[in-house]
Amino acid sequence: MEFVNLAKTCRTLYDKDYLDNMKKLDILKRHPMIKFDNLYDYFHIVNRFQLNIKQHIQRLVDDSHIFENMIENIEWLNDDIIFIKHLQKFLKKELMKITNHKYSKWCGETVITTVNSIKGALKGLGMTTDVNKNNVRDMIICIVFSTYSTNDNHQPILDKISFLKCFNCKKFSNQVVDFGELICLNCSKTVHP
Ligand SMILES: [Zn+2]
Repeated sequence: MEFVNLAKTCRTLYDKDYLDNMKKLDILKRHPMIKFDNLYDYFHIVNRFQLNIKQHIQRLVDDSHIFENMIENIEWLNDDIIFIKHLQKFLKKELMKITNHKYSKWCGETVITTVNSIKGALKGLGMTTDVNKNNVRDMIICIVFSTYSTNDNHQPILDKISFLKCFNCKKFSNQVVDFGELICLNCSKTVHP
């Protein structure tokens, strides 16, 4: 009888372990994990991303033909509009660069969500005010930056996929605290309680 119970417990533990591993694998498949040795490297990558995005968007709105075509279709922007095509293309290119060209599916899906937000925001802008190159440029930059790199309340996407090495346990974590040395959230409870 006891043996049966033990076997049952083992089975439950085994199943739980198995499920946990599957979950981990699933997360790894879906979410990129980019490792950085230090904060400097991380900020360097984020700054470069922001700079490239700004340049791409400026170039896009400066192309009058493409911009006018977008304005004409602002009420119904689909993926065939050249402006949207370019937006998708350079966003994916920048995301692929950051994730070392290993997560094409994730980059594609993430970009679609971002571009959908931008399409909606452009339509809203068109309903409320005169649309011009400056407000389109600034609005798109704000959406991309707040989604990917700067957000006070929730981890933006680039934070979520960036893992830094904990000085204490030497493991990579995507939530570290800077105590002069980077300490992961787990260790910070024991090292600096
Ligand atoms: Zn640690």
